[in-house]
Amino acid sequence: MGFFFLVFYLIPLIVAMWVFFDSQKHGYTFWQGLLWAIGVFFVLIVFLPLYFFSRRKRRKLAPAPQRPQTPSQGTPCFYCGQPNQGDPKTCPHCGQNLKIRQ
Ligand SMILES: [Zn+2]
Repeated sequence: MGFFFLVFYLIPLIVAMWVFFDSQKHGYTFWQGLLWAIGVFFVLIVFLPLYFFSRRKRRKLAPAPQRPQTPSQGTPCFYCGQPNQGDPKTCPHCGQNLKIRQ
């Protein structure tokens, strides 16, 4: 009896909770995560592969915005606003002297 309880109730519950929190990490809304969790809880064998498939497709469509793309470490130009690599004396975009500031 305990074995069946474990297999048919406890494991889907744990997996459903994991799916819910995992979906939140992957940018699903609260209700989307809840629906996935409910689906996994009741029909684990169907919804768990579906969830993984959906998650993989989602990741491919929208890459996780973990790091905003900042190719240049430098600060934007004082005059024209273009980002400058490193710490140049003059702006390569507008030619203004960057070392003279008031
Ligand atoms: Zn400039």
